[in-house]
Amino acid sequence: MDTPLTQHIRPDREPLDLRSYEQAGGYQALRQALTLAPQAITRLVTEAGLRGMGGAGFPTGRKWSAVPMGPDAPRPKYLVVNADEMEPGTFKDRLLLEGDPHQMVEAIVVSAYAIQADVAYIFLRGEYVLAAQRLQRAIAEAYAGGYLGRDILHSGYHLELYLHISAGRYICGEASALLNALEGRRAIPRAKGVRTAVSGLWGRPTIVNNVETLCNVPHIVLHGAEWFKALGRGQAGGTKIYGVSGKVRRPGTWELPMGTPMREILEAHAGGLRDGLALRGVLPGGASTEFVLPEQLDVAMDFDSMATVGSRLGTGTMIVLDDQTCPVGLLANLEHFFARESCGWCTPCRDGLPWVQQTLAAIDAGRGAPEDLELLAMHTRFLGPGYTFCGLAPGAMEPLQSGLRHFREDFERHIRERRCPWGADHGDHLH
Ligand code: SF4
Repeated sequence: MDTPLTQHIRPDREPLDLRSYEQAGGYQALRQALTLAPQAITRLVTEAGLRGMGGAGFPTGRKWSAVPMGPDAPRPKYLVVNADEMEPGTFKDRLLLEGDPHQMVEAIVVSAYAIQADVAYIFLRGEYVLAAQRLQRAIAEAYAGGYLGRDILHSGYHLELYLHISAGRYICGEASALLNALEGRRAIPRAKGVRTAVSGLWGRPTIVNNVETLCNVPHIVLHGAEWFKALGRGQAGGTKIYGVSGKVRRPGTWELPMGTPMREILEAHAGGLRDGLALRGVLPGGASTEFVLPEQLDVAMDFDSMATVGSRLGTGTMIVLDDQTCPVGLLANLEHFFARESCGWCTPCRDGLPWVQQTLAAIDAGRGAPEDLELLAMHTRFLGPGYTFCGLAPGAMEPLQSGLRHFREDFERHIRERRCPWGADHGDHLH
């Protein structure tokens, strides 16, 4: 099985340095890319069907195609890597950044060349200290090796690359809030309607892509669109870094064909649930997705198939709910996170999420009232799509509305018995 993204990752060992990366075939894709017209790379990425792996799944080639090209295009142009991996339960980009930093650098230079960017930034999650050290070393080696800076490999193409460490807010994962943070402004999302590809960082053409998305690009350049499409199962192309957390035997991450069934990931790779536990549900793509139930486990984990079971692929990193874990406590914990991370810009999210969190915490602690369930259901509508300035609040409502639907009896038991049936005390600290 081809695992292009993780082929050079050696668990518990230092990542490849420049020399070893070159010996393993590294930077060949860049050499090849520099012989092609920039638009030819965008065409290849479009034909391959590469989609955004940060959760949205937007076609990468289409995004790049919106960047003004040619001698009259505004300058400078920017490529920004969204490495601010803060979605609860998600740790796939960390694997790539720590495990193969030169792959990241090569992916950036190839992608920046495709849109003719002058400057690139890696916007990195503040807690990813090891990734920062390894990236910084790889960037320095790439400059010394002629892969960054002026006249890269004597091609006439120039690119400066900077590592930017995030000051630490979840909202910075939203592309336009990330750009505000990079400019030194308050990290709030920008108004929709202005295309970042035309007017992004400091008002200049800018592309923001996720780590995993970009890491695919050198392999597509080297092996072609058809090769990439054939990596996946069914209609979906490429590979995906899937992850599993929760009470399974082997939590972790695996690079597998895009479209691998959820059951196979959970059972063959994560080893199934620990002894004595039964599965109740899975949040398939980080915290901002709807629960998938045990009877739906045969669904293929790709963008289109996940919609058929009423959820989303999201980041492809699953959070598993077992029968010894209180679903109300789990949801109270998640909504506590989202309420804390609201940027405060729009009222429904700023004021609504704390209400949701407090209501859930009260139910979890045995102080809920029957009418609280209708109150929560109302919030899932008023904080849903169309009522808030960005997707944070609607995303926060996805696990809650599906949790209310699938685990209603658990909520009712908390209220009826005035205690958590699991005997857990995870509510009060959330007040
Ligand atoms: S939905 Fe929340 S995070 Fe998004 S702009 Fe409004 S307050 Fe900020």
